[in-house]
Amino acid sequence: MNNKYTGDLAFDREHIWHPYTSMTQPLPSYQVKSACGVHLTLASGQQVIDGMSSWWAVIHGYNHPRLNQAVSSQLEKMAHVMFGGLTHEPAIALCKKLVQLTPDGLEKVFLADSGSVAVEVAIKMAIQYWHSRGKPQKNKLLTVKNGYHGDTFAAMSVCDPVNGMHQLFADSINQHFFADAPQTRFGENWQAEDILPLKALFEQYHQEIAAFIVEPIVQGAGGMRIYHPQYLAECRKLCDQYQVLMIVDEIATGFGRTGKLFASEWANITPDIMCLGKALTGGYMTLAATLTTKHIAETISNGEAGCFMHGPTFMGNPLACAVADESLAILMENQWQAQVKGIETKLEKLINPLKKHSRVADTRVLGAIGVIEAKRAVNMEKIQALFVKQGVWIRPFGKLIYLMPPFISSDKELEKLVAAISLALEQDECFR
Ligand SMILES: *Cc1c(COP(=O)(O)O)cnc(C)c1O
Repeated sequence: MNNKYTGDLAFDREHIWHPYTSMTQPLPSYQVKSACGVHLTLASGQQVIDGMSSWWAVIHGYNHPRLNQAVSSQLEKMAHVMFGGLTHEPAIALCKKLVQLTPDGLEKVFLADSGSVAVEVAIKMAIQYWHSRGKPQKNKLLTVKNGYHGDTFAAMSVCDPVNGMHQLFADSINQHFFADAPQTRFGENWQAEDILPLKALFEQYHQEIAAFIVEPIVQGAGGMRIYHPQYLAECRKLCDQYQVLMIVDEIATGFGRTGKLFASEWANITPDIMCLGKALTGGYMTLAATLTTKHIAETISNGEAGCFMHGPTFMGNPLACAVADESLAILMENQWQAQVKGIETKLEKLINPLKKHSRVADTRVLGAIGVIEAKRAVNMEKIQALFVKQGVWIRPFGKLIYLMPPFISSDKELEKLVAAISLALEQDECFR
């Protein structure tokens, strides 16, 4: 068994942590040589169609000529300079676009290094805001179950308590307030009582709560749940009524994925603070952003510290800003709407019939997101091997087999992805 892994792969298994897998019994990793369009080329020479967009980020496809050009042009000028006391054209150009594209009122941009950091920044902004207003007792957070907001400590403290293993970190994370997750599905009739559990927590604890944080419309890594826009609209009303800031985590949903440029648009809301990440650079490198309003930025700046207390070493990295600016330029040419609509139509046609399958508990489609919830958890090693053999790259978690393909995916490629899932559903060994 052990000599199955030789050379580089053996070193990888022995010495390199991979996300959420054991260091003693790691799941296999496939080595990738290159990637282009929707295809990954493995070390074996085999090509697989990527149905994951590398964790939902590579919306325009790999090795994109314009994104490559944006990085290399910037590289000729400078790879990096510190952002303290210095600024540069790529950051300015990117932030202009972000202010323009995001919902009205969001006009102050903080550039962060990753999604989790953008969430940390949002939480710190909310706490500093209430501190500046002489209400330091407003320092707790309110959220809903089944959320995912990142892996750092403050982000983890608002992830689903079960999925996020809060028990394990109980003495190290702050305890916050959790309401039951929204139940009314997207596309169903709105059930007004759905908001009551959340409303009760607002009523009881608003004097301690700095901010309510939520993923708009699609709860991603916490369960791939797609909920009714009215729920989000009600959240906005409750935040206003109880003087709680609203943080919307658009890290997974931003930049067209749900069929709107930002999922907040489904409910026509402007949050007080918005987090962006993942697809921001078209999946080229790590960059995230936290946007807020003039009022919040001014309140923080007029407070005790006189400034916002955060400033990472690689803040506003010029290479990342340049490629993000170009990725947004591609989005603004507005082909994504037709692309995402086309993917949605195709995924509905391909995935909805699987709902009747004996192994399937539920299916859901919105925009360029397709979810098949199995009745049992997958056997990761077996299902992964089957997918690769079928020429696709799909990475399920738990009972959830899902697709978040690049926006450039063709009907044929989507058919191949879903055909591989259908085949897996026939294999006993692919499930626990
Ligand atoms: C992925 C994700 C994060 C964390 O982003 P990282 O870049 O992995 O730190 C936060 N919130 C949501 C909704 C995400 O999907």
